[in-house]
Amino acid sequence: MIIVLLGPPGAGKGTQARRVEEERKLVQLSTGDMLRQEVAGGTAIGLRVRPIMEAGQLVSDEVLVDMIADRIAAPDCQAGCVLDGFPRTTAQARALDTMLAAKGRRLAAVIEMKVEDAPLIERLTGRFACATCGAGYHDTFRPPRVVGVCDSCGGTEFTRRADDKAETVTARLAAYHRQTAPLLSYYRERRLLHSVDAMAAFNEVARQIAAVLDRV
Ligand code: AMP
Repeated sequence: MIIVLLGPPGAGKGTQARRVEEERKLVQLSTGDMLRQEVAGGTAIGLRVRPIMEAGQLVSDEVLVDMIADRIAAPDCQAGCVLDGFPRTTAQARALDTMLAAKGRRLAAVIEMKVEDAPLIERLTGRFACATCGAGYHDTFRPPRVVGVCDSCGGTEFTRRADDKAETVTARLAAYHRQTAPLLSYYRERRLLHSVDAMAAFNEVARQIAAVLDRV
């Protein structure tokens, strides 16, 4: 089963994708994580995309399509995957349809994580993660139980994403509305779109996603 989580930055796609991965054994494919790995590794792609990501813009379709095509074709994704952050443009959505059709596969569902813009800025600018195990936290909504110590692994080093600064967050939301939101009608027309209320508490969002996955 291949599913797409679609929604603006800060809607909780990554957190819910990790939950789906654990519960359904679908591999989480986050194009944002893949690109951040390229940047951290100082690869040719990383050097090229770093300024684009730091400006909150979208990386070119060509880079993304090549990157995801390799991953979807890998043996660990044969049972299925959850796409987190891809596709983000109509060209990417068409390329995904073509690459899946060529392998006799198709999308099972596209889940829209519906959330208003206003809370997203606070959600994004306050978030940070454990540098050791990646557990996610938020200054206001989810601080660690003991200040400065990761609840999950006891780590004491934390990181913040370079593009979670207030000025970049505004550009990322604008890119979402301009380039990604049109995908909602693209998938609605293809009868693949399901919406969940991503303003709800984490467990409720997870329950709504599970209900969609049980139906498709
Ligand atoms: P994310 O972690 O999904 O918020 O992605 C972080 C950044 O990576 C985005 O702001 C874009 O610059 C870039 N990116 C990730 N996925 C895509 C995509 N499918 N198309 C274009 N750029 C992407």
